[in-house]
This record gives sequence, structure tokens and C-alpha cells, in this order.
Amino acid sequence: MISVTKLLFAREYYGDSLRYTKNAHAMRNGAGEGMGPVVVWNSTKTCNLKCRHCYMSSDNKKYQNELTTQEAKSFIDDLADFHVPVLLFSGGEPLIRPDFFELAEYAQAKGVRPTLSTNGTLITREVAQRIKDIGVGYVGISLDGLQDVNDQFRGVEGAFQKAMAGIQNCVAVGQRVGLRFTINHHNIQELENIFDFIERENINRVCFYHLVYSGRGTAMKNQDVTAEESRRAMDIIIRRTKDFEDRGLEKEILTVDNHCDGVYMYLKAVSEGNDQQAAQIKKYISMNGGNRSGIAFGEVDPFGYVHPDQFTQHHTFGNVRDRKFSEIWQDTSNPIMAGLKDRKPLLKGRCSQCRFLENCNGNFRTRAEAVTGDFWESDPSCYLTDEEIGIAGGADK
Ligand code: SF4
Repeated sequence: MISVTKLLFAREYYGDSLRYTKNAHAMRNGAGEGMGPVVVWNSTKTCNLKCRHCYMSSDNKKYQNELTTQEAKSFIDDLADFHVPVLLFSGGEPLIRPDFFELAEYAQAKGVRPTLSTNGTLITREVAQRIKDIGVGYVGISLDGLQDVNDQFRGVEGAFQKAMAGIQNCVAVGQRVGLRFTINHHNIQELENIFDFIERENINRVCFYHLVYSGRGTAMKNQDVTAEESRRAMDIIIRRTKDFEDRGLEKEILTVDNHCDGVYMYLKAVSEGNDQQAAQIKKYISMNGGNRSGIAFGEVDPFGYVHPDQFTQHHTFGNVRDRKFSEIWQDTSNPIMAGLKDRKPLLKGRCSQCRFLENCNGNFRTRAEAVTGDFWESDPSCYLTDEEIGIAGGADK
């Protein structure tokens, strides 16, 4: 996750302490001293929508053998002992689980901050109030465009209006809420509208996700943005973030799942002669160190299996029903887990020779694997030129 706001203006928001500290840098070689990873728990595979890019391939049906309430509490107990700072409840649609509130409250009481990733369609005013009352730190609501553009992606007519009501209900009760927008070839034209929308609706945070080719999203790998479109998207995001700042509007703008974004911001500041800002951006992307799947970020699926992140569910390290998450996480007998914790020597192609490897860490491995079949190949979504990454003569194969 890259905070555009932080890189440009050094503003501090919740979560930045996990991304931009000396400890965050140290965490590149394993869970940081005294701190476990941020954990995403895809708590159910059931969903009332059917999004085209869903990495879980979720559907509106009941799946058997998901973790029970008691199993989930034991899992949370271990996360607390392992000093996991944040547990992100995701899905499917996590609010479909009848025990969502019980488990989120349990995590909160144990000192593991619950956050929620949801399609927003089930958030009535009462639900929003309950979310707020139990201390959910943040609610991220997925929208992939406005009106029909969103509904086409979400697979259900009326999804936009319901998500919109969910957002407004969160805002009305004072619950911290933001948007999750996955950029692809079909909705890139909506970017400017999204900035207008968050200003109009008094939403203070938006995360722009890059597509990762996983689950139903695998079929969209040919519908991802081009390198040129990625650069154009970043230019819009940077310009609009600066505009918010200039007008004194406190909005937190982030991008997710493509660490080229931080490097691009740095190079842009250099090319504009803004040395001070370039130095600031370089400082933060160096502190962060790039992709940390399998290091400071992990995932557990609805059935208890542990993976490096939510998009990499085809690589499994164990099951929390058999062994504690903390033990599975520190066990490097699996070559993918060992490799992720120290990946630089394994990387191939452009990534292996890139001058920004310390700031990007080879980006997203699952995208490389989805396109090339090799987990350690270069990330195909890198939109920086050979010249920019310092291999103008071409990368060795
Ligand atoms: S070449 Fe690889 S390591 Fe370098 S910026 Fe691109 S994705 Fe990141």
C-alpha cells in the first residue's frame, strides 16, 4: 500500500506507522521485532454480489466447512499472542457471517484492531452504528465506478445504490470509511469522477487497487491497463491529491498492489526539479521497502488455510485448524514462504536488475506467475521504462 498523501505531504494517518517506520523496513526479512503481520481473514466465501474480478470467485451460496465461531476465536487468540496489529475481515461478504460482530468485538477486546472490507450493500444505519460501537477501525467499501459502470463489474443491478447507502450510513454515524476502486481498462475513465464523488459525499479516504490476476480476476489479465494508462492514472491521482491539499481538504489517497507507483512519484518529482519532494518520497519508499506478502502481510481463507496474501491462495502453508497461525507464519520449510521472506536473490528478468529493487521488492509475484508461469519472474504490471529502472541496455534473461 502506498500513501500518495504521505509521500507528497508527509501527512500522518492511521496505518502509516505500519508502512513508514524503521521497523517497517526491518520487517522485510520477517515479522518485525515484537510484531506479527497484518492479517486478512477472508471469513466467508459467500457473497451477495458476483464481481468480475473477484479473487475469491465468490458466489451467492453457502460453502461448507468454513471456520466456526469457536475456531475463529482460537485463531484470534493466537493472533493476539503473536502481536498482530490489524485483522482485516474480508470475504466474500463478511457481513453475511452471522457472527461477524461477535468476532470483530472479540478481536478488538484482544487488542487486534478489526477493520472491514465489504461491498457495502448490507450496511443499514443500524449496522453502521453497530460497526462504530464495537470499534471497527476502518470500513473499506468497494466501488469500481459510478452507477452502471459499478453494477456491470459487480454483476448485480442496483449494487451501486446500495453501496452508496452503506457509505452514507457510515458517514452519518461518524464511522471511518473509504472507497476501494480497482483500476482496469474498462473503468480508468472514471478516475476523475471518483475524486469528485469522494469530495461530494464527504468521504475522506480512497484506495486505488491495481488488478491482480487471481480467481475470476485471472480472466481479466488481458483487460488490465497498459503501461501508458497506468502512468496516466498516476498523473491524475497525484494531481487530484495535490488539489485536495491546496484547498485544505483532508483526504487520504492510497494506491495498492503496485509498488512502481512510489518509484513513479519519485521520478516525477525529480523530473519536475522538486528536489525536496523527491527526497521525501525516496525516504518513505525506502522505509517501506516494497511488497511484503508473506512477510508483514498474510491471509487466512474461510477454511483456515494460510497464504501469503489474498491473491495467492494457490500457495498454502498450513491450516490454523492443525497448527497456530504464528507457527505456520514462521516456518520457512515451504520454499515459497522462505523465498518471499528473502526474495531478492530469486527474482528474475527486469526486477532482478532494477535500481529500485530496495523500494519495490519485485512487486507482485502472483501477477508474474499468472502471466509467465514462473513465480519469480518480473511483474508484468511494471510500467516503468528500462531507462527509468537503470537497465537501458536490456535485462539479462
Ligand atoms: S522492475 Fe520490478 S522491482 Fe523494479 S520497479 Fe519494476 S516491478 Fe519493481
